[in-house]
Amino acid sequence: MGARNTPGLVPGASHDEGVDAMPEPTRLDALIVGAGFAGLYMLHKLRGTGFAARAVEAGSGVGGTWYWNRYPGARCDVESMFYCYQFDDALSQDWEWTERYPAQAEILRYAEHVADRFELWPDISLNTRVASAAWDGDEALWRVATDTGEEFLARSCIMATGCLSAANRPDFAGLDDFAGRVFHTGRWPHETVDFSGRLVGVIGTGSSAVQAIPEIAREAARVTVFQRTASYVVPANNRPLDAAEQADIKARYPELRAAARKTFGGFAVAIAQQSALAVPEDECRETLARAWDHGGIGFLNSYRDFGFDEAANRRAQDFVRQKIRETVRDPETAEKLTPRHVIGCKRLSLGDDYYAAFNRPNVELVPLGEDGIGRIVPGGLTAGGEEYRFDDLVLATGFDAMTGALARIDIRGRGGRALAEAWRAGPRMYLGLMSNGFPNLFTITGPGSPSVLSNMMPTIEHHVEWIAACLEYLRDNRIREIEPRLEAQDAWVEHGNEVASKTLRYNCSSWYLGANVPGKPRVFMPYIGGMPSYMKKCAAVAASGYEGFELTPG
Ligand code: FAD
Ligand code: NAP
Repeated sequence: MGARNTPGLVPGASHDEGVDAMPEPTRLDALIVGAGFAGLYMLHKLRGTGFAARAVEAGSGVGGTWYWNRYPGARCDVESMFYCYQFDDALSQDWEWTERYPAQAEILRYAEHVADRFELWPDISLNTRVASAAWDGDEALWRVATDTGEEFLARSCIMATGCLSAANRPDFAGLDDFAGRVFHTGRWPHETVDFSGRLVGVIGTGSSAVQAIPEIAREAARVTVFQRTASYVVPANNRPLDAAEQADIKARYPELRAAARKTFGGFAVAIAQQSALAVPEDECRETLARAWDHGGIGFLNSYRDFGFDEAANRRAQDFVRQKIRETVRDPETAEKLTPRHVIGCKRLSLGDDYYAAFNRPNVELVPLGEDGIGRIVPGGLTAGGEEYRFDDLVLATGFDAMTGALARIDIRGRGGRALAEAWRAGPRMYLGLMSNGFPNLFTITGPGSPSVLSNMMPTIEHHVEWIAACLEYLRDNRIREIEPRLEAQDAWVEHGNEVASKTLRYNCSSWYLGANVPGKPRVFMPYIGGMPSYMKKCAAVAASGYEGFELTPG
C-alpha cells in the first residue's frame, strides 16, 4: 500500500505558519473532485500529460462506490473481467479476479492497487469535501473551497463526484427518536456489523436491499422488509473464476473489448436482433430460461424489443413472475413479492438468493400501502396502522442519483449563477460533459451521457480520455475557456428526451427520472441512445475543433 497523505495536507501549503496565517490557495491546472474510478483515472491521465492536477475526496480512502457501499452482500453485477480499467495492458494482465462477479472488498482492493501502482496517493487529499466552487471570470479559474479550509485556484474543475454517491435518506418522521442502530447501505460502517440475535428492519427493496437481505437474514433473529415497490430480480449465478477461463479472456481482451464497445451499453453481452413477439411463446420462454440459468443482466437482452414494446416486455415480466411463484413457497408472500410494472423500467436487480430468502422463517415481508412508512418510533416503525418492532434499522433507500452529489456543492458559474438555479427544472448538459454558463467545468458521466445505463468502467474511461484530450487541445491552442453553446446544449437535451420517450423507461417511477426523491424534477437523466452513437458524436465534436462549444482564446 502506498503512503496515504495526511488529511488536508496540500503541497505548497506550509503547516508551520501558525493558526493566524492562512495558507495560500493551491494553484492547479485541474482540480478533480472525487477519487472513485473516475477521479483516479482522471488524475493519472492528466499527470501523464504534464498537467498539475489534484484529486479531493470526501472519504478516507479511494474507490468511491466501493469505499462507501460495504453492506453485507455488496457486489458488482457486471462481470469482473469487464468491470475494470482497459487503459493499461499490464494492469489488465496482472490483476487476478476471484469470482465471476466481484464482491465489494475485492473491487476496493483493485481501486487501492491502482492508486498504489500509478503512485496517485500523494496527489489525493482524503477526508476533504469540496463545499463550493465559484468561477472567477476575470482570472478564468475556479475558486474551490473545502470543508477543511483548503482552497484551490484551478483552470479547470472536473467533477468525478459519481452518479450514485449522494445517499438518499428519506425524511421519515421520528427517525431521530429511533433507539437502535440506523445504517444506510450507501454509508455502511467500516467495522463489521454484527446482526446476530437482532431484530432488523429493512426499508427498500432495490438492488442494494436485494443483495443485503439474504445476508442479513443468515445472521439476524428476524428481518422485517418494508417494500414500497416489488422488484424484478434475476439470478447472477455467481461462481469462482477458474484460472483457465481468466487466461482465455485476458488473451482475447482486445477483440472482446472491441466487440463490447459496439454494444448498446458497452457490455460484453450483445442484444439479440429478434423481436420477442416474432417467436412462439414456448420458444420465448425457453430462450429466457437459458438466459436465467446463465445468469446476469443479459437476461433483458434476449430479445431486441423488451425495452420498447409493452407486449414483448410482458413476456419477460410473466417469466419472472412464474419464477417467483416457483421459488417462494407461501403463495401469499409470492403474490406480494410480484412486481406489476414494466420489467427493466427501474434498474433490473441481480441476486441469487433474494426470493428464496422469503422462505426463511425469520424473514417477513411488509408491503407498504399508499401512505408508506407512518413514522419511526423508538422501538421500530408504524405503517398502515400497525406497529413493527426491531432493534436495528437498515435504510436501503438508494441515492439522489446523477445530480445529488453536484447539488450538494455550491457551484456558481458565470455571473455568480448557481448550478442549482440553472438546473431547477432538471439537469441541462451538452453530451453530459459540460453545462452552459459553467466554463471549464467538466463532469464525468454527467446527466445526458450513457453513464448508469452502461458498463460504467469503459464509460468512465471514455469521458476521462475525452476531457484530457480537450484540455490538451486548449493548452496547445492557447484557449483559456471552453463552454457549450446554449443552442447545442438545448438540442442535445431535446435529442436525449426524444430518444428516451420512445422507450418503456420514460414513464416509469424510477431514480433515472428522479422519482425517488420528493420534489426532484421528473427528467430522464441518462442518455439512452447507446454507447456507439454517443461515442461517435463525442469523437466528431472533438475532431471538428469542438463544434457546439464556445472557445475563448487567452
Ligand atoms: P463514485 O465511485 O461514486 O465516486 C465518487 C466519489 O466522489 C466518492 O468517493 C465521493 O465521496 C466523492 N465525492 C462526491 N462529492 C464530493 C465532494 N463534494 N467533495 C469531495 N468528494 C466528493 N456500475 C456498473 O457499471 N456495474 C455495477 O455492477 C455497479 N454496481 C453498483 C453497485 C452499487 C452499490 C452502487 C452504488 C453503484 C454501482 N455501480 C455499478 C455504479 C458505480 O457507481 C460505478 O460503476 C462507478 O464505481 C462510479 O465511479 P465514479 O468514480 O464515477 O463515482
Ligand atoms: P434504489 O434502487 O433506488 O432502491 C431504493 C429502495 O428504497 C426502493 O425499493 C424504493 O422504493 C425504496 N424507498 C425509497 N424511498 C422510500 C421511502 N420514502 N419509503 C419507502 N421506501 C422507499 O436504491 P439501491 O437499491 O441502493 O440501488 C441504486 C442503484 O445502485 C441501482 O439501481 C444500481 O444502479 C446500483 N446498484 C447496483 C448493485 C449491483 O448489483 N451491482 C447493487 C446495488 C446498487 P421505490 O422503488 O418504490 O422507489
